Amino acid sequence: MRIFVLRAFLLAALSSAGWAQETPTEREAAKQVLRKMGELEKSLDIPGLTARVTAPNAERDKVVARAKELMDSELIRMGDAITRAPEIGFQEDHSIKILMDYLNQHNFVTEAGIAGLRTAFTGKYKRAGGFAANSGPTLGIILEYDALRGTQGAFHGDQHSTQGPIGMAVAIAIGEYLDRAKLPGNVVVFGTPGEEMMPPAAKTQMFEAGVFKNVDVIVRSHAVTSTTRPAPGFGTCCLNIDGVKYTFSGAPAHQMTAWAGRNALEGVIHLFENIDSVRSNLRPETRIQGVIPEGGAAPNVVPDRAVADFYIRYPDAVYLAQVREFVDNAAKAAALSTGTKVKIENYGRLRDGISLATLAEPAFFYMKKYGATNVQEEPGKPSGFEETGSVSSVIPGISFSAQTSTFANHTYEMEKDALAEIGHHGFVVDAESMAALLFDFATAADYRAAVQQEFKGIQALFGEYQEALKKVYPLPNVPEPK
Ligand SMILES: [Zn+2]
Repeated sequence: MRIFVLRAFLLAALSSAGWAQETPTEREAAKQVLRKMGELEKSLDIPGLTARVTAPNAERDKVVARAKELMDSELIRMGDAITRAPEIGFQEDHSIKILMDYLNQHNFVTEAGIAGLRTAFTGKYKRAGGFAANSGPTLGIILEYDALRGTQGAFHGDQHSTQGPIGMAVAIAIGEYLDRAKLPGNVVVFGTPGEEMMPPAAKTQMFEAGVFKNVDVIVRSHAVTSTTRPAPGFGTCCLNIDGVKYTFSGAPAHQMTAWAGRNALEGVIHLFENIDSVRSNLRPETRIQGVIPEGGAAPNVVPDRAVADFYIRYPDAVYLAQVREFVDNAAKAAALSTGTKVKIENYGRLRDGISLATLAEPAFFYMKKYGATNVQEEPGKPSGFEETGSVSSVIPGISFSAQTSTFANHTYEMEKDALAEIGHHGFVVDAESMAALLFDFATAADYRAAVQQEFKGIQALFGEYQEALKKVYPLPNVPEPK
């Protein structure tokens, strides 16, 4: 009976709230795909699977206890120390030294400066017992550590400061267990810088450099104000994004003889105006916002260089490409009309990621079991476990989110909570739950197969959805003028 109720609940959740499709056009295009996704989830019997996977297990309890012990004895304190010494993205030198020193002392081989990023690193657990490098599942754990850029300096208002210590507690506990149990498998931590910054999109750059190759599952934690998990499917928190820089080049001249020059700042101003003039021809969910980080040096010299930096957003990547073309053309037209030249750099892309019920439901069960607070029973919308979508659309994974603050993300109050009981408690819950889930993944081949089956299924449906979207955004026919 209980299982039936759970299943009915899950199906209700799948068919209504929580989907990533935000516009009527997208929902229409996704109709068939969502029906098939509902069938896929039903066939996996998620409530039954969750009950089986999370059944009591004394060995799992020991792994969880070890992660908690590391948190309580050393790692909460380490998180506090990093909170008190915030470093913004790509400058986290001190933070990664603390993390890497600890990993080196706990049987990991570490390497910094990977994928061309100074503060990116990997840590590989040195397996005892002569297991071949690629035998058994490879368990990945993402650590983050960048602080936010604030008007009063860097601050840890998103609590990335303790993500490193949490992930290390999990990695050490599960690595030691694999050795103790003489089980095949590998444990790798990924230190990923600058979550709050683009360019570059660090995880995409690391992914393209092959850093995540052969990883079977990835876990990560992130600060939140309520304990949640995503519904299965594909999506992202904050629309698909293209980050694009438009650099205009002109020629300098004296203000009094400006005809001898070409004004790059005017190029940028025209770009903004050109975009505003077509906003009504763009779908209303479009979000285009830019800033002018460089606009000249002095009013008596015609600016020969000016830069505009834009985040261009739309709920799906297919229509986003049309919006991008509008904005790129606006820049080209601006350059043409001002006699300047423009360089267009698409420095970052954030896309939909994939979330899985086979990982999210056991994770949610564990977070509740280990005492997570302010629990939201209704699943959130589908969303990958990391912000770029580049990793979470090709490798199964889950971001753990037990409540760690009563204040909103990116606030000074959330930073304070990282040092308080509510933060410390949530961090330990995340560590315990992540350790429990990795234990299940490492020890049960049939569970790994179910995760893979759901992932492959949703991945294929995501492709189908992209194809369906291509048909719902036809371009109008614009004839040649007669
Ligand atoms: Zn964050």
